[in-house]
Amino acid sequence: MIRWKIPTSFKSLNRTYIVEEIDEVAQTVLAAMDVHPNGLHLPEEAKIFLDLTSENQELIEHSFFHEWVHSALEASGYEHLSKDEEFVDEFAAILHQFFQTAEGDVQLEE
Ligand SMILES: [Zn+2]
Repeated sequence: MIRWKIPTSFKSLNRTYIVEEIDEVAQTVLAAMDVHPNGLHLPEEAKIFLDLTSENQELIEHSFFHEWVHSALEASGYEHLSKDEEFVDEFAAILHQFFQTAEGDVQLEE
């Protein structure tokens, strides 16, 4: 299985995104929006906020991928797809499953 952790930062095209625990500002934004309640992404600030208080690690990971899919779609000019929460959540689940189940190491022949 691939070893991975939710990162504290990552690059998406030419921007560096920061991943942090939901703070009071993000909490206020969340309260004012009808969005995925366990995470939030702010494209202008290149930030992803996660609710790390949950004891459900799978939920936290899923929330990370959910917000990552939003940020990737918006960074690559597919904002219209990012507005489709069902699509974003399903794609996040498939991506999460990939990281949970991928095994092996294919060696390319030279
Ligand atoms: Zn969402």
